[in-house]
Amino acid sequence: MNKNNYKVNFFDIIIGVLSIVLFLFVTTLLVNIGTGKGVNMVDESELIKEKGNKYNISEREKTEVYIKVYITEKDVVEVIPLGIYLKGVVAAEMPAEFNLEALKAQSVAARTYALSHIKQYKGIPCIRAKEHEADICDSTHCQVYIGESDMKNIWGENYKKYHEKISEAVKTTEGVVITYNGEPIDSPYYFAASSGFTENSEEVFSEARPYLTSVQSYGDSDAPKFSSTMKINKIDFIKKIKDNYKGATLYKNSLMDQINITQRTDAGNVKQINIGNISLKGTEFRKLFLLNSADFILSDEGEDLIVYCQGYGHEVGMSQWGANGMAKIGKKFDQILKHYYSGTEIRKIF
Ligand SMILES: [Zn+2]
Repeated sequence: MNKNNYKVNFFDIIIGVLSIVLFLFVTTLLVNIGTGKGVNMVDESELIKEKGNKYNISEREKTEVYIKVYITEKDVVEVIPLGIYLKGVVAAEMPAEFNLEALKAQSVAARTYALSHIKQYKGIPCIRAKEHEADICDSTHCQVYIGESDMKNIWGENYKKYHEKISEAVKTTEGVVITYNGEPIDSPYYFAASSGFTENSEEVFSEARPYLTSVQSYGDSDAPKFSSTMKINKIDFIKKIKDNYKGATLYKNSLMDQINITQRTDAGNVKQINIGNISLKGTEFRKLFLLNSADFILSDEGEDLIVYCQGYGHEVGMSQWGANGMAKIGKKFDQILKHYYSGTEIRKIF
């Protein structure tokens, strides 16, 4: 019995050791397969980081600037040379048909925004990118970025022409940023089209910025989405308000009498709207009903409410359609930027 037991135990040990060896082998293999890209990225970002530690603004021209972009759909971080990243942003954020000076203005706004988020230049990474140790995300949360294959899909036979045009816009403005009091600005916001005036920053975002004040904008009405209409069933409207605002009282009968726009901003957007016994900011109302802008009026149409909107976007900073309108009458990219970002200077910093 003892001898047999010993044998059994001995074989158990052999099998145990083999199992552990096999387990370690398979685990290592799986980890390598599973994180193949991740492992490469870590190496790559360490390399960039090492280079990055030597950077400061005055030395930037000696080496290429990189940005770590969190690609939302693929859930990966790509380390991209800034010039290439900016082409992908301009391609995604502004129609390539636009005037070259408007595309140049867009390139400078996008570069200024990007630099304000790059950690190695004391920028503040966006919240969504930060958790992946990146600087910026590729979605509308920051600025939309697309790669070459998307550009080919969007532009089709015009790919070569548009790619060259956007490359020119980025290249000819290399190192150029928007500054205020000598420093690059941190919020070079932009949007599609205003309803005639841009908006003060504090009406939409939490903070005021001296360079983000309401200015007149021309050419915005050329935007295809400049005017929009939304039909909302009254019962759906009441349900949405009650679902989102506890204690709201609202009745279908004479609904319009219970809705009152009480205040508008300098730009003409709705600042405050009373609905039944509650009061909403115009921006909240816009978000709730996914309106194109906060510049709206409402009307009664039987079972429905009709919301008429003018403008498209948050309306703070540079209007892209307005920029194109200015470019069409001969304004240069720096004049366009200085118009929309009050009191700024356009400077080449690398
Ligand atoms: Zn972001």
